[in-house]
Amino acid sequence: MPLVVQKFGGTSVADPDKIKAAARKAIRAQQAGNQVVVVVSAMGHNTDHLIDLANQISEDPPAREMDMLLSTGEQVSVALMAMAVDALGYRAVSLTGAQMGIRTDSEFTKARIRSIAADRIRQLLEEGNIVIAAGFQGIDEDFNITTLGRGGSDTTAVALAAVLHADACEIHTDVDGVYTTDPRLLPEARQLTKISYDEMLELASLGAGVMHNRSIEFAKKYEVPIHVRSSFSDTRGTLIVAEPESPSVPVCGAAMTRDEARITIRAVPDVPGRSSTIFGMLEKAKVTVDMIVQNIGVDQRADISFTVPLKELKQALPVVERAVEAVGAAGFTYDDAVSKVSVVGLGMARQTGVAQRMFRALAAEGINIQMITTSEIKISVLVDRPHALEALRAAHREFRLERQPDDVHPWEELPRRQATEADLNKLMHDLQLADMEQLTLSDISLSDDQARVTLQGVPDAPGLAASVFEAVAAEGIFVDMIVQSCDGEAGETSISFTIPRHQLPAAREVAESLQRQHAVRNVLFSDSIAKLSVGGIGLRSHTSVAIGIFETLAAADINVEMISTSELRVNVVVPSADGQRALECLKQRFAAHLI
Ligand code: ADP
Ligand code: ASP
Ligand code: MG
Repeated sequence: MPLVVQKFGGTSVADPDKIKAAARKAIRAQQAGNQVVVVVSAMGHNTDHLIDLANQISEDPPAREMDMLLSTGEQVSVALMAMAVDALGYRAVSLTGAQMGIRTDSEFTKARIRSIAADRIRQLLEEGNIVIAAGFQGIDEDFNITTLGRGGSDTTAVALAAVLHADACEIHTDVDGVYTTDPRLLPEARQLTKISYDEMLELASLGAGVMHNRSIEFAKKYEVPIHVRSSFSDTRGTLIVAEPESPSVPVCGAAMTRDEARITIRAVPDVPGRSSTIFGMLEKAKVTVDMIVQNIGVDQRADISFTVPLKELKQALPVVERAVEAVGAAGFTYDDAVSKVSVVGLGMARQTGVAQRMFRALAAEGINIQMITTSEIKISVLVDRPHALEALRAAHREFRLERQPDDVHPWEELPRRQATEADLNKLMHDLQLADMEQLTLSDISLSDDQARVTLQGVPDAPGLAASVFEAVAAEGIFVDMIVQSCDGEAGETSISFTIPRHQLPAAREVAESLQRQHAVRNVLFSDSIAKLSVGGIGLRSHTSVAIGIFETLAAADINVEMISTSELRVNVVVPSADGQRALECLKQRFAAHLI
């Protein structure tokens, strides 16, 4: 019999009437001939209220007790949902994470799923029950209750769909599907018919709160098609599958994280090991680091900038202070009023000139870009918080995201997952996964046919990045990685980018003419760089990858010149003489994770 997993988010079970409506949906799915597992979140803002309560008791509640507390939210809603199904005359059994055998590691408040013993759920389904599963929670080896991180019920739903080899995984929420950007921020956002796993993974981790990013890691790894749709109607939603909606467009969506903070460590001695020290210390203090930009330095010293979530700034600053001392840097600056705006699309990997369109669109609104990082399928910029929404709107408009591309097919058949249990076991075996959420890497590669251009002392004014990349594109130069760091105090920035080595002479001319036009202090070129690239799934939530790369290269005495991170890839640029050796070291370091 086909099996459907339906997940209902907090707003969709916020009051008794909504719970009853969700119960009716589950019953309808069962009547249509499916076995049905319903995954439920805590009612409304219950999780927020619980967090608030904890904070009224203690400034620093123990993480274990936090999970004990937070898991109660879902326990309330599964019981009520089971009662609702029962009251309508159908059979239902509610289960907590522990009762359905969701084993996790012991990282309280952000535990990862190790395994799910699906037998109990299967048995209950066979007996004709609708199984109501508590989202967001599990149990560790010592029977401690754990939670998966905010928004984690999506991950429970997709993980259950994977192990039960469900035919469909429906995420019922308070919007009609996945939009080109949060429709609550931009009313002109368009609902997508479908979106690829890779794009959704990036968007989710760059601020599109509609899906928990780790749920998409599961979906991609175990090939679970997801249907995001409205709880309150039966209209068709958005499919999250392997292919993108339109093969022709460079950008499919935009996202914003409003509350970010930027930290710059100044004049760090440009020697191997400095990043490893700095980011190792932050990792140990459990600070989430993002958007790392290290640029080529002057006098063997370089500035390293990165962002942290605003709410972790307080925790980060003392660590940064110690790091400054540890690496012998000159000091640090920070800005707590910045936001990150990003655009994402598989198509940008095949098209040139996408980045400069984004930069120009922001410049046209007079918005200054403080920092830039790009990777294969995303461009992120850091802007002043008061300009963030405008920046999002400008990027959305530039890529005409409100308009459906011409090559989008009308609704196709909903995909039904064909995988059998044997397929799943084979997949687990092929992936050699001890844990379901274990880090998996697909490739570690080296390209040493690239060169680097650096513009130092660029005046920090709106439109400069746009002018630089327009001039570069006008010469047909293909730009790969871009990083722009910021130096708020000096009022200047540095921009570095990589290009194919054979285009270096052309790039040299462009850079020198830019230098004259825009009073750029200095231009530097290197025709001897190597880019190392580690590919996989969920590399930003597995922060150990970037740290591991830093540690490995530091131990081998190899200097990291540039870095960019995304969900799918971490890229680092090193001197080309060290390329091959760096590759060997990284392969050795990550051998256990390569599949
Ligand atoms: P649930 O409680 O159902 O899990 P969430 O609040 O976690 O719901 O996610 C749904 C919300 O995500 C929407 O109300 C919307 O404001 C927000 N959102 C952010 N980005 C997007 C996007 N790209 N498409 C749709 N919704 C988005
Ligand atoms: N209730 C949890 C939260 O609010 C999990 C979820 O809703 O997905 O984060
Ligand atoms: Mg959610």
